[in-house]
Amino acid sequence: MFENLNERLERSFKILKGEGKITEINVAETLKDVRRALLDADVNYKVAKTFTDTVKQKALGMNVLTAIKPGELMVKVVHDELAALMGGKATEMKLESTPGHPAVILMAGLNGAGKTTMSGKLALMLKSKQHRKPLLAACDTFRPAAMEQLRVLAEQVAVPCYIEEGATNPVAVAKAAINHARLNGNDIVIIDTAGRQSIDEELMVQIRDIKDAVNPDETLLVIDAMIGQEAVTTAKTFNDRLEIDGVILTKLDGDTRGGAALSVRAVVDKPIKFIGTGEKMEAFDVFHPERMADRILGMGDVVSLVERAQQQFDEEEAKRLEKKIRKNKFDFNDFLSQIQQVKKMGNVKDLAAMIPGVGKAIKDVEIPDDPFKNIEAIIGSMTPKERENPDIINQSRRQRIAKGSGTDIQEVNRLIKQFDQTRKMMKMVTGMGPGKMMAMANA
Ligand code: GDP
Repeated sequence: MFENLNERLERSFKILKGEGKITEINVAETLKDVRRALLDADVNYKVAKTFTDTVKQKALGMNVLTAIKPGELMVKVVHDELAALMGGKATEMKLESTPGHPAVILMAGLNGAGKTTMSGKLALMLKSKQHRKPLLAACDTFRPAAMEQLRVLAEQVAVPCYIEEGATNPVAVAKAAINHARLNGNDIVIIDTAGRQSIDEELMVQIRDIKDAVNPDETLLVIDAMIGQEAVTTAKTFNDRLEIDGVILTKLDGDTRGGAALSVRAVVDKPIKFIGTGEKMEAFDVFHPERMADRILGMGDVVSLVERAQQQFDEEEAKRLEKKIRKNKFDFNDFLSQIQQVKKMGNVKDLAAMIPGVGKAIKDVEIPDDPFKNIEAIIGSMTPKERENPDIINQSRRQRIAKGSGTDIQEVNRLIKQFDQTRKMMKMVTGMGPGKMMAMANA
C-alpha cells in the first residue's frame, strides 16, 4: 500500500539534501514534485494544491524557529499535514444501546465495494474487542447470493444472521431484523444493503427509505480504494443524498495508489473510520490518520502491528504453552498452533511492511501467500505419537513424512533441526531462575 507515493515523496525530499536552509526557491521546487506525486497517486487536484500551499507556508514559517536540516523539516511538515488531511485523530463509532433498543449500523456502497465482507469484519470486531452482541441483517433482497454470502460470513465469525428467504422489501427486512435483535438480546444490528454497478436513482431512494425507517446510529459508506478518483465522487454523491457518518475504505492491501484515503476527508468532510486490508475476516483496522501518514512516508506502523498481535493473542493458549515449556514438553502440536496464531495476524508481507524500513527493503521480494504451507504439511504427515514425541522421528520415519507431505527429506531434516533448537533455547531460558536471566540480559 502506498509504495509508489512513498518512493516519489522520498525522491522529492532529496531535492533539499545538501541545502543549508529552506528557501522560497528550494521549497517551491520540492513541493512541485510533491504535488506531482500526489496527483499521480490519484489525489484530487484541489486537495493536492491546498495541501502543498499549506505545507509551503508552514515550512517557511518553521524554518526560522528550528535548526534541523531542511529535508527533515520538510518530512515533518508533510507528515503532520498528511495526518491532518486525513482527519487528524481516529474517529470512533457512536453506538449507544439500551436493553430493548439496539444500536444500528447501516452499510451502504456500490456493488463489489466490500460491504458484505466488511459487515462480517465489523461484527467480529464488535464481538471480540468490545464484547457486544451484534446481529447481522441481510437486506440485499436483490441478490439471493448476497444473503447467502452474509450467512456464510456470519457463521464464520460466529455471529447470528437475520435472513428472510424470498423477501423483496428491504425496509421490512431491516425493521424485522431490529425487532429480532430486541427480542434476542442483540445490542447492535449491522444492516447489509444492496449495491449497484454504478450510482443510480433507484438505489439511492431505496437506501434512503431504509435509513428513514430504521434511523441508524451510524451510516457507513464502504468504498473500494482501488477505484481512485471515482472513490471521491462516490463518497460525495452518497453523502449528499444519505448524510453518511463515515467512510470505510476497503482493498487497501491491493495495488492502490492511495489517493482515495488522502482526498475523501477533505472533499466530503466525513472521517474514514475503518480500513479493509484483505479478504480474511481479521484483515481489518481502525483508521488512524497519524499511523497512515507514517506508512505513507515509509516510517512503518509498529503500533498497529503490536495491536494486531494483541488481538490474536489467546491468553488461555499462552498459559497452557508456558506450562508445557516449563515441563520441557513443547511438541510439534504446539509448534503448529503457534504457526496458526501467527497466520491469523494476516499476510506476512503486509505485516513486515509495518516495520519501519522493512516494507521498502522487501518490496520486490517474492513471499509466497502461504509461507508456512510446507511446515504445516510436514507436521500434518506426522503421526500423533511423533508429534508428541519428536525424539522418536528416526531416518525411516523422516522419509515417510517427506513422502506423505510432498516435500523432501532435506526440508523435513531442516524443520526437525529448527524445532530442536527452539526446544533447547526454551529449556535454557526456563532452566534459569529470574536472577540468572537478568544477569544474561544485562551481560
Ligand atoms: P459487496 O458487493 O459490497 O457486498 O462486496 P463483497 O463484500 O462481496 O466484496 C467483493 C469482493 O471484494 C469479494 O471478493 C471480497 O472478498 C473482496 N474484498 C472485500 N474487502 C476486501 C479487502 O479489504 N481486500 C481485498 N483484497 N479484497 C476484499
